[in-house]
Amino acid sequence: AAKESGKNQYRRFDLDTHVSRKEKLRILDQVPQALEDSQLELFLQPRMDLQSNTVAGFEALIRWQHPTQGLLGPIEFLPYLEYTEYADAIGRFVMTDAINKLRQWHQAGLPWSISINLSPSHFLSSGFEEDLAEALDGCDETIRSKLILELLETTALDDSDTVIKRLQACRSIGVDLALDDFGTGYSSLDYFRRLPVQEIKIDRSFVTDMLSDEEDQMVVGAIIDLSENFHRRVVAEGIEDADTRDRLLEMGCHVAQGYFWARPMPADEAMAWAKRFTREK
Ligand code: C2E
Ligand code: MG
Ligand code: MG
Ligand code: MG
Repeated sequence: AAKESGKNQYRRFDLDTHVSRKEKLRILDQVPQALEDSQLELFLQPRMDLQSNTVAGFEALIRWQHPTQGLLGPIEFLPYLEYTEYADAIGRFVMTDAINKLRQWHQAGLPWSISINLSPSHFLSSGFEEDLAEALDGCDETIRSKLILELLETTALDDSDTVIKRLQACRSIGVDLALDDFGTGYSSLDYFRRLPVQEIKIDRSFVTDMLSDEEDQMVVGAIIDLSENFHRRVVAEGIEDADTRDRLLEMGCHVAQGYFWARPMPADEAMAWAKRFTREK
């Protein structure tokens, strides 16, 4: 019987992958409608300044409110769009929406930053700088400096000359730059010091279990020290408990985010969360 149910399970799994492969192709067809009908939404997860225990800003994480499939996370659709025109279209949507939020916060006297994740193919495309400049049109320096662009360490390694030139161009437009999922790529220390980024984000895989895994904790410590020595802001993601938060503060980590504070939430919930946090602190 066990063998039989095992077989059934396998067949079901097989069927699922078949269905999802068909879905994959349909995803591409559905993106224009999704953009047109505002089915895409930026959820916000708070980023905490550890020293002062205040909200430093938010990371914008995309979700797709799909009419038949429900809420889709980014890994369920973004990978299929890379190197298609839709990666650029979604990238423009993310920039514009995030900058609108920054403008609203600025008007309301809220000093928060917003971090957005860049699609590798959009970042490397020839239209990227123009898209960024257009999205920031009319924004003054204060607002520009509160937009943080997160580039994956693995993307930064793709074509180093192009990447460095493009990062410098972004700097001259006035935005802040972060290296995301740091520790999972193969950056040499020489390349690391040449990258014109202001922030290093330690990959979640080293952070979540660092209190029970000594080696994880050593990696986290090494990245914090490296960032500190090169005057980069260092951010940890994936904090799920108070002890990990306390340890990161002791180790000198500047900013942190994780389920310990809050999951990514729709923007209005995130605003309510931040007000409550500030009041109750
Ligand atoms: P990321 O940029 O490294 O974002 C952090 C991911 O970790 C998010 O997953 C977040 O929900 C999750 N996370 C945060 N805190 C915790 C925690 O304490 N525990 C656990 N288990 N997870 C935590 P999400 O939202 O599914 O996003 C996955 C990835 O998709 C992101 O990783 C980013 O690389 C990509 N992504 C998200 N939004 C966008 C976007 O607008 N554009 C592009 N190009 N990529 C995006
Ligand atoms: Mg990120
Ligand atoms: Mg990350
Ligand atoms: Mg990640």
